[in-house]
Amino acid sequence: MSHQALRGGCHAWLQPGGWGSSNAGLITGRGESLLVDTLMDVRLTRDMLAGLADATAGRPIGRLVNTHGNPDHWFGNQLLAGAEIIAAEAAAREMRAVGPDVVLALCAEEPFARKAFGRFALDEVEPTYPNRTFDGRLDLDVGGMAVRLIDVGPAHTEADVVVHVPEARTVFAGDIVFAGSTPVVWSGPVGNWLKACRLLLDLDADTIVPGHGPVCGPETVRATERYFEFVLDQAGRRFLAGMPVADAVADIDLGPFAGLGEPERLALNVHAVYRELDPALPPLVGPQAFACMGKESE
Ligand SMILES: [Zn+2]
Repeated sequence: MSHQALRGGCHAWLQPGGWGSSNAGLITGRGESLLVDTLMDVRLTRDMLAGLADATAGRPIGRLVNTHGNPDHWFGNQLLAGAEIIAAEAAAREMRAVGPDVVLALCAEEPFARKAFGRFALDEVEPTYPNRTFDGRLDLDVGGMAVRLIDVGPAHTEADVVVHVPEARTVFAGDIVFAGSTPVVWSGPVGNWLKACRLLLDLDADTIVPGHGPVCGPETVRATERYFEFVLDQAGRRFLAGMPVADAVADIDLGPFAGLGEPERLALNVHAVYRELDPALPPLVGPQAFACMGKESE
């Protein structure tokens, strides 16, 4: 993991790696800072706070934004228990539904989930929820710096907040952008994720801190669009041809996207497209979702 100082008092905390290795961000203003996301467990989050100590000296973290409800973006919240913790309303609901107990049970049941999350210290996590929620948009002032929170979901999850710092031409995109790895649709619709990409591009930022992967620019948002256009097309055609969803996943040749990390997420993404075309198809929930991806990763 590493600290990358960006322009305009913005910082990225980057964790390379696969499942659960998420990024976080920091926006510093006069006398105060805002943290964007905590990490998958308390130890990782403690290391991050120590790594950011120089940047937050004289500018303590008074506020935390959780971009969405996935564990790798909020399980370290307990170290910021005195802060204002902000999330979109639907994200706060998802956090209450999927806490460390649920993830531990998932790991116990499903080998692929254990492979993904077994290395994290989940037993130390005391769920610490947002104490301020919003719908749609929320404008903040962080020590003189305008910070705009925009919920562009449902897409990756039920609510996906991007954090825009116009003065720094920087966006913390949360999991709307996976740089170098495969995005995963837990909620959808996929069309709304494409809309979210458009909105991100319209913000005209030149620095984008993705939820996963290295700091990037708008070209990576455009690559995300191309991935989902590809999945919509490939899955849609197979649906119309009457191919069962599992066969469609096995049949799709990823072509230009074959180099992205965690390609097994295709299983969930194709399933999401199928469900949009046939609402009678049951959703893939925790253990089934990881079982499907485990099969795909073999
Ligand atoms: Zn994530």
